Amino acid sequence: MAKNNKNCSFCGRPESQVDFFIMGQDGAHICNECALQAAEIVKENSLKKTKLPNLQKEQLPKPIEIKEYLDQFVIGQEEAKRYLSVAVYNHYKRLMQENTNDDVEIEKSNIIMVGSTGTGKTLLAKTIAKKLHVPFAIVDATVLTEAGYVGEDIESILTRLLQVADYDVKAAERGIVFIDEIDKIARKGDNPSITRDVSGEGVQQGLLKLLEGAVVNVPPQGGRKHPDQKMIAVNTQNILFVCGGAFDGIEKKIASRLNTRVVGYTAALGKDQVDNHNLLQYIAPQDLKSFGLIPEIIGRLPILTYLDPLDRGALRRILTEPKNSIIKQYIKLFNMDSIELKFNEDVLEYIVDKSVEFKLGARGLRSITETIMMDEMFETPSKNIKKLNISLSYAQSKIEKANINRLKTA
Ligand code: ADP
Repeated sequence: MAKNNKNCSFCGRPESQVDFFIMGQDGAHICNECALQAAEIVKENSLKKTKLPNLQKEQLPKPIEIKEYLDQFVIGQEEAKRYLSVAVYNHYKRLMQENTNDDVEIEKSNIIMVGSTGTGKTLLAKTIAKKLHVPFAIVDATVLTEAGYVGEDIESILTRLLQVADYDVKAAERGIVFIDEIDKIARKGDNPSITRDVSGEGVQQGLLKLLEGAVVNVPPQGGRKHPDQKMIAVNTQNILFVCGGAFDGIEKKIASRLNTRVVGYTAALGKDQVDNHNLLQYIAPQDLKSFGLIPEIIGRLPILTYLDPLDRGALRRILTEPKNSIIKQYIKLFNMDSIELKFNEDVLEYIVDKSVEFKLGARGLRSITETIMMDEMFETPSKNIKKLNISLSYAQSKIEKANINRLKTA
């Protein structure tokens, strides 16, 4: 900063009219205000990049290929995988139709996936993201509120996509957004007029605009913390939305609908044919409506699919089969210390049993394995051993000593 009697080399104002100067080479100066303006110009120009991801049909993965890729990381969930693979493939095709000039316009088919927590919805979304040729963002619906209330504006969903696309608007406009926990914006009561439902129906109305395809002004930095940031216009017409939610308790609504049907008609679906352990497989749009999604939103999510609950067999497979399964991760961790780690088969069965017993699902597999391995992870790197075998009695002793409640919250 300089204190001499010079003028700003940009606006020409003398030092007395500005806060301070920043000095450059050969007697050049820039005042604080011009520096700020210059920064704005730099930011704006970097937002104007318009390179399009060049989609070549031959390079695009076919649905079967996409599903085979998902199979390497996600156990089971056949139907959801097929639906997702087809949706992504069709999304690419829609993007390519821009080059054709007949009257048939392929409309987008946003998806909604319903499945209990911890059955792999986010994992599916994250895995598919790795295989995609378009920007992909995962956002959480729980933080959304109607404009003007504490929380995030609906438009912030697109901020994430813009960030992933490196602020390339054209690329973001062909992207895919996964909205997690969509059930959390369900209408809170049957009568919306009793209290204002700022995180429920209000958000659904806002979301509708995005799903329908509109030009939305998006705050590039997200949130409402930067009120004077310059908005970026994003057209959502070609953005594919994939929604996921646990919809806790929706089974009751499905069951009561199925029951009425069985009573009403002598039924295509007899009562005894209904698999009561997996009612989600019968989910229909009207169940989402009974749960509290508004019909307009349901109409904009025409593909409805479900995830199966994870049974004992699935949990056992999750432990070792996926490419980055929990057990493979521990083996790698120890391998980095040149220790060959092995789990006895009965230990793996035991981990699954405990996860089922504590009702922890797939998430529990990690916390239980972590509890069993903690002492060894602490001690073995300092010991001079080359092999480590985890036996059932060792695993049992660690779990019996552990505080079960801590496992449950893990
Ligand atoms: P959700 O989004 O349905 O609540 P997640 O996808 O976050 O559940 O799953 C939680 C964790 O459980 C994942 O990180 C993954 O390790 C494991 N998991 C859940 N379901 C599966 C599955 N079907 N195949 C492999 N791992 C799974």
